Amino acid sequence: MDSPRAQPQLRLERIERGYTQGNRRIEVLRGASASFFPGETVALLGPSGAGKSTLLHIAGLLERPDKGAVVINGVDCGKLTDSEQTRMRRMEVGFVYQFHHLLPEFSALENVVLPQLILGLTRDKAEERARELLRSLGLDQRWDHRPAQLSGGEQQRVAIARAVANEPKVLLADEPTGNLDPPTAERVFEQLLKLIKTSGVAAVVATHNLDLAARMDRTLRLADGVLIEEEVVVAEVATD
Ligand code: ADP
Ligand code: MG
Repeated sequence: MDSPRAQPQLRLERIERGYTQGNRRIEVLRGASASFFPGETVALLGPSGAGKSTLLHIAGLLERPDKGAVVINGVDCGKLTDSEQTRMRRMEVGFVYQFHHLLPEFSALENVVLPQLILGLTRDKAEERARELLRSLGLDQRWDHRPAQLSGGEQQRVAIARAVANEPKVLLADEPTGNLDPPTAERVFEQLLKLIKTSGVAAVVATHNLDLAARMDRTLRLADGVLIEEEVVVAEVATD
């Protein structure tokens, strides 16, 4: 698997993170390491409570690890100040959650425009990009609707468009289709995969769904606080 290829866009180096609950200390991450490459989709598997969300928060600079390094686009983010980390996150990281977390008072279009304005794009440029993204995700008609007026699948597609609006190097998705009915989940997932390939973002997708995991490029399993590369075993077809 170690053929020469592009530099990783995200590298996690021996990440450790624990929490104290009452008088109990739990070590959630115990040296998790992995590299993620352009255009690559990596499934993050593990039972509930394994630490998937914690790992994604740390990878996305929402929380600092106790030990270890998060390297985005070659920059060791642990060496950055909080405000430098915020800037790095806004420029280089997109998040998609299980629930869309769109701003309820704003239209679909505005939700995709706003993160771009925060980075200093002109409104014209930001709207053009938002329209293009929403169109590529199959949302042609509903740009003026607020999130509450959209279906679950449409909300998630807007959330995906928002996450990649600033052309991040890293896309972190935490059970992005977990709240959708299976046919809708399927369509949204297909569009997400296509967008990852065309945009060249490195994507980490936490999921419980083994069928979805099997369609990603690689699978990492979080077990006992470390990441283990897992062969996806495709059921063998008996030949006679
Ligand atoms: P997953 O996403 O795989 O279900 P999480 O990362 O949400 O797992 O949680 C892993 C463990 O860390 C759980 O035992 C959870 O209770 C604990 N945990 C997560 N965040 C916190 C926190 N802020 N304070 C205390 N414990 C936490
Ligand atoms: Mg979680």
